[in-house]
Amino acid sequence: MTALGCLAVLAALCGGGLGAQERYPVDWAKLEPEILERFTTLLKIDSSNPPGNETRVAEVVEAALQREGIPVQLFALESARANLVARLKGNGSKRPLLIMGHTDVVGVQREQWSVDPFGAVHKDGLIYSRGANDDKDHVVAGLMVMLLLKRMHVKLDRDVIFLAEAGEEGTTQVGIDFLVSHHWPDIEAEYAMAEGGSVIEADGRVHHVLINVTEKAPRGARLIARGPSGHGSRPSTQNAIVHLSAAVAKAGAWQTPLRLNEATRAYFERLAAISPPREAARYRAILDPARSADVDRYFFEHEPGHYTLLRTSVVPTMLQAGFRVNVIPSEAEAYLDIRALPDEDMPKFFAELRRVINDPTIEVVPSQSGGRPAAPPSRTDNVMFHAFETVSRMMFHAPVLPGMLAGATDCAQLRAKGVACYGFGPIADSGAGPLGGAHSDDENISVNALEKLIEFLWNAVIEVAAS
Ligand SMILES: [Zn+2]
Repeated sequence: MTALGCLAVLAALCGGGLGAQERYPVDWAKLEPEILERFTTLLKIDSSNPPGNETRVAEVVEAALQREGIPVQLFALESARANLVARLKGNGSKRPLLIMGHTDVVGVQREQWSVDPFGAVHKDGLIYSRGANDDKDHVVAGLMVMLLLKRMHVKLDRDVIFLAEAGEEGTTQVGIDFLVSHHWPDIEAEYAMAEGGSVIEADGRVHHVLINVTEKAPRGARLIARGPSGHGSRPSTQNAIVHLSAAVAKAGAWQTPLRLNEATRAYFERLAAISPPREAARYRAILDPARSADVDRYFFEHEPGHYTLLRTSVVPTMLQAGFRVNVIPSEAEAYLDIRALPDEDMPKFFAELRRVINDPTIEVVPSQSGGRPAAPPSRTDNVMFHAFETVSRMMFHAPVLPGMLAGATDCAQLRAKGVACYGFGPIADSGAGPLGGAHSDDENISVNALEKLIEFLWNAVIEVAAS
């Protein structure tokens, strides 16, 4: 419709009928070579954290943005670990939207990979590389959306800020924490979109789109057993290894209290509504205190991804004890990976853990690392969340489920500052195992999943930011 034609129709009808999407059509097939070229370039930079070297990634993104006239700032606490911030100005009538992706990746065990982990090998429609799924997909998505907004002269009601941050994988002091404490005005926004969600596919079609509105908080602890050292030929009631083993077994088997929050309640309600009868019955039963215990047990055995969403989880992950076959060591230590519900009262929880272990020789030492702040879930009744629903319908004919991420992301710091932050992600087959996902050997993403991720971000940005 022409602008003149538009004038001739009722303004309201025009605004509603001819959406921003139609005014800014994108030829995604034509963009594919550029997307793959940019993505490949980012993947080939080894930004394993430690040490990170994220500045090398930031400089590539910086050059691409500057070449097309988009102003960029680099903020670095350590010179090799720069964060990139770029901003496209809107008319100021609405508060900014922040889109983000982290530039560091976790390390690799090279010998476990079937391809070069930094070779960006492309075969059978898949791109293999550390960072393909976590999180250079979001970095290239943010970059492409900024370039498209600029190229298409999109008129914006709100600033769109692109943040490519360092240090997400365990060193947030150089990344999101540094930005929040030293450069807050440069990234402050009403809404943010980051990693964390996914598009769940089953039987070759999109079943639902998962948008995470909250996440669990990593709160680890060490268990330390102490006892007299001695000769391995002499059994002792005070053997530190025996005490530690019993404590680890109790902690690992502890079925912590089941508790729903508004995000997980909405998730299971909506999942029930779109699931086959048998699954739907289970998802409804978990919402009913009178019937939840059996389903909870079922989840423990068959759906660990759902089990962990219902509780603060305790998982033993490391043991350290002994140095000789015939020596009883005086100390033995275990590590518990504890993922807390956002509203967990940790002192109370650790007191309960001590009660479960029930052994005065075991010391429970909560981890001191700063970790992620806890914050209430981001809302599902605002224009941003409604945009996700509109875009999911348009792209996939699928509903959106709000969720809670069991892992941790930089959204935690933003939510703690009052930003409504949402985790979105690429297409994942619900039947597929962990092979090739974030942090795994042979990490990969399909070209289709990458392109749909970018398209999803683009559409969501247009929905909430375009005038
Ligand atoms: Zn990540």
